[in-house]
Amino acid sequence: MADEKPAMVCGIDLGTTNSAIAFIDEHGKAQVIQNTDNERITPSVVLFEEEEVIVGKIAKNSAVAAPDRVVQFVKRHIGEEGWVKTFFGKEYTPETISALILKRIVQDAETVSGRKVGSVVITVPAYFNEVERKATQDAGTIAGLNVVSILNEPTAAALAYGMDKLGEKRRVLVYDLGGGTFDVTIIEIDGAKIDVLATDGERRLGGIDWDDEIINMVAEKFQAEHGIDPRSDMEACQDLRNKAEDAKISLSKLDKVRILCQCQGKSTKVELTRDDFEKLTKGLLGQTETYLGVVLEKAKLAWKDIGTVLLVGGMTRMPAVVQMIERVTALKPETGINPDECVAMGAAFYNAVLALQAKPAEEPELALQGEALKESIEEDVLILLQEVEVTNVNSHSLGIIGVRRTDMKVVAHKMIPKNTPIPVDVTKPFGTEKPNQVSVMIKVVEGESDNPEDCTQIGTCEIRDLPAGRPAGSLIDVTYAYSVDGRLQVIAKDRVSGREAKVEIVRTSGMGEKEIVAAQKDVVDMEVG
Ligand code: AMP
Repeated sequence: MADEKPAMVCGIDLGTTNSAIAFIDEHGKAQVIQNTDNERITPSVVLFEEEEVIVGKIAKNSAVAAPDRVVQFVKRHIGEEGWVKTFFGKEYTPETISALILKRIVQDAETVSGRKVGSVVITVPAYFNEVERKATQDAGTIAGLNVVSILNEPTAAALAYGMDKLGEKRRVLVYDLGGGTFDVTIIEIDGAKIDVLATDGERRLGGIDWDDEIINMVAEKFQAEHGIDPRSDMEACQDLRNKAEDAKISLSKLDKVRILCQCQGKSTKVELTRDDFEKLTKGLLGQTETYLGVVLEKAKLAWKDIGTVLLVGGMTRMPAVVQMIERVTALKPETGINPDECVAMGAAFYNAVLALQAKPAEEPELALQGEALKESIEEDVLILLQEVEVTNVNSHSLGIIGVRRTDMKVVAHKMIPKNTPIPVDVTKPFGTEKPNQVSVMIKVVEGESDNPEDCTQIGTCEIRDLPAGRPAGSLIDVTYAYSVDGRLQVIAKDRVSGREAKVEIVRTSGMGEKEIVAAQKDVVDMEVG
């Protein structure tokens, strides 16, 4: 490997079904790097063998023969406490399995380009919460990567689209329907400023759900004919999953497909027309349509205010998606960007932005990469990249548990509603509950409901030693300060005595520092092909 060439500034789209990597070339353009199978995207599928781990196409193709040793869709479990898979006596968390995918992608990128992968930006759905973001970052660390930022997928797509349009003012709607997640985001590009105005979505809605509808329909026909449910046979079920996905993809081009379901020596052939497929999955598409309206309303805009629609994710190749978007927005979606590649490309651009803006004293390695970029890329692109500024909104409401005075019910009161531009500081007064109360425990929650049971408690902040003998309702000012990198600081201050308590809530994922270091060592030692 020619180490003398500067390390590449890269962006990685770590997807539920497929992943991709892009780098910034000497002209300042983002380029997807092929893998060693000569493909621009790599299936996010992992096959565990005794001596090695296989990632990508071969792993995906092995899913039928060895379903018990293959992991797919691990992104749906990232950050999930307690989710582990055991292979050959060893336990793997979603972070470690994701790290194996990252290792293959990076390894291939280095082999194919003959250059080292330097810093990386990894993307996540806009709707990911902080635990899921942190877990994604940990996956990068476990893979031995220098992850300089976690970027929202729709922002990445807007960057990839907008890089040659910076300077114009336009509002962009990003509809992102991938293999496992769905989000809609409205972004404003103004000069070199890229602001997220509103975002919403479903963490668990994507291609897999469309495939499931086909699987269920075929399995029921098979069962009616043979009295066996192919979904209860691991191999047959995996085979049917692959065929259902192929059928779905074919139906984006063809009017009709045939699916052959085989299980325990029996078979059933099912014909599926595009029309019937669209009827079968109408509810799923309808769910995504609902979010279009929700996000528009949250951004306080009308469709006439939106100039461009970007479609991201392989599922947006379905004609039904395009028709629905055209009907709702009265706009023709942008066709100039590749829905499978734009996220990785935008992430690479963002990495370049960070490298060019890095201060040598604070981030020496990244700043060095920035210097290398400055020497190679063209002047006009350089100027643009140096000016790019990305701002974001929080994707989940942050609240506080307290008693509502009007009905004395314990409720989760929103301090920072979702879709608030960040960074943000909010201060609200709260009265003590009882007379002579000398301490107050603040319970910090994340969630949209006012029922505390439907929210997730993410931390506490206790203020003690308040003066004795005060009446109920004595005021405490509570401040939530939410920073760009997802850190929340909670400050509680007693109005009378001035006593103050301050905590920083750092939401950590399932894995601790020690576990991450141990997993990193494991992944380095593992043969990944
Ligand atoms: P992504 O996560 O963006 O890679 O999207 C992958 C999802 O898009 C998977 O569920 C694929 O089955 C689906 N997909 C890819 N190409 C097509 C296509 N031409 N028509 C319908 N779905 C597709």
